[in-house]
Amino acid sequence: MNNPKNTERTQESQIPTQDVRDQISNTIEALDIPEPNASFIKWNNQRGFGFLRMDDGKSVFCHVSELCKHLQPMRDDAPDFNEQLHVGNVIKGEKGLSAKNVKCTYCVTPAIWELQPSGPVVFGVQEVKPVCTNKPNESSYKSTIKHHDIWEANKSFREAMEKDKKWKGKLNDKFFEEFGEAENIKVIDEHNIALNYPHGSKKVSIFQVYESKHFDVTHSGKWKEDEYSFVAEFIFKDIPDAKIWVNIVTNHYDNNPTLKKSFDSLTPKAQDEVLNRIKMKLLSPDDITEKQFNSFIEDIYDLDKIKELRQKILHLQAPGESFITSKTHVEQSEVMDGYGDETWGTGHFISKEYTSDYIVSGARTFTLVRQL
Ligand SMILES: [Zn+2]
Repeated sequence: MNNPKNTERTQESQIPTQDVRDQISNTIEALDIPEPNASFIKWNNQRGFGFLRMDDGKSVFCHVSELCKHLQPMRDDAPDFNEQLHVGNVIKGEKGLSAKNVKCTYCVTPAIWELQPSGPVVFGVQEVKPVCTNKPNESSYKSTIKHHDIWEANKSFREAMEKDKKWKGKLNDKFFEEFGEAENIKVIDEHNIALNYPHGSKKVSIFQVYESKHFDVTHSGKWKEDEYSFVAEFIFKDIPDAKIWVNIVTNHYDNNPTLKKSFDSLTPKAQDEVLNRIKMKLLSPDDITEKQFNSFIEDIYDLDKIKELRQKILHLQAPGESFITSKTHVEQSEVMDGYGDETWGTGHFISKEYTSDYIVSGARTFTLVRQL
């Protein structure tokens, strides 16, 4: 349904006519011209639209929503009529031609991207990132620099990050391989020391220093007994004033002391002292048996059975003794209901008491059956 008026305007706008495109209500033609191709004619700010003049002299309608953010006039203000405009497309609608995607020169200027150092410096190396040199607020995700090139440019930065990881990580052989020996070492407090390097200071716990096995330690001669262990004091050959108390024996179960590797570093005299003290703490075989038995039955739910078993063993020790004993126990049983052959539990329980009599003769127990 071609309106004669619209046909006329189409010819006027010199948009190539295509049968297929004419069949749909809007014809879009990308002009895609880097040179400015339009300017404002008039603008009605209250109604939010105006008209532009294209280079070829045509007037086209333009809604405010089609203007880039730089072109949109402030409230109650007019747009800058001197501004050169870049109209992206012209649409032929029912009412005539209208401009779409209208941009200022800044917006159509292609961004120029460069790799530049940016962000924090890690071991003297700064990461390089794409930076837009002609548009200060351009988002870097629009960068045209290939990911591979960015990756390549950051080789030394990645190495610096690896180094940083080692620097902040555990004190181990890899650490000393990378950074060598500290220029000096200072004790910060009773738990921490500082390893000072030309590029910075690393704070570590004395325990970490001990664990690293990088520094020679010797026993100071002091040892003491804690609740569950024996500990000894060690001093560091190359770190004056640093000392640490280390577990040498753990003794959690009274009768099962475990010597730690650090025990070997004690002086022979101290080793003897500690071993003698451990011997004194060890329980007698009777005490150990009793203790183990008690801790065993603590875990057993059926304590009575174990006690009964124990009683039998006691009888074994007095084989001639005979006596009659009785035992009463209570059982819970569910009240059943039924109809015909079917039965079912009611969910109600009653207690029933059962009494059994036994005759015990030495190690043997016989159940007495009572005739009713
Ligand atoms: Zn703009």
